[in-house]
Amino acid sequence: MDILISACLLGYACRYDGKDNYIENFFEKHKDINFIKICPEVESGMTTPRRPSEIKNNKVFDNLNNDNTDFFEKGANIALKRALDNNIKVALLKSKSPSCGKGLIYDGSFTKTLIKGDGFTARLLKNKGIQVFTEKELDDFDNYIKIFKSKLWFSNIWLNFIKKSLILFDIY
Ligand code: SF4
Repeated sequence: MDILISACLLGYACRYDGKDNYIENFFEKHKDINFIKICPEVESGMTTPRRPSEIKNNKVFDNLNNDNTDFFEKGANIALKRALDNNIKVALLKSKSPSCGKGLIYDGSFTKTLIKGDGFTARLLKNKGIQVFTEKELDDFDNYIKIFKSKLWFSNIWLNFIKKSLILFDIY
């Protein structure tokens, strides 16, 4: 099973401040998942480290008021392409980021104030029907994966049953 993941959650030091957001004690439980990484900001051409950016009025500015919206839109499209190319249905993204955040983001004042909203990448993935979780929702993610796998198991059993029935039908 392939899951798209924010590269910083995998331990890549691609955050604006050159650090990572590695999730401790998580990947050991999910050794059968193929995590496919994406860092929309770095892959759109931004450097690391870089100035922090926040969303305001559907545009993205850094803390010197430079407009970085084009980078964030480009990064979101790169993430979507990676998901579509790999037939990915689920993404695990970093909360609160102006790219990867889902549900809550900073309000553009650089005062650590959170408001409802999604980062550019999370929003685009959600709009295209991809199920998005953040590292703040790991229990929900685990439950979703469990259900997904059991559905897959049942559909494989069913497919095998049909195949065997068809073979028998051909024989008789
Ligand atoms: S853009 Fe996403 S993957 Fe890249 S550092 Fe920010 S939160 Fe992590």
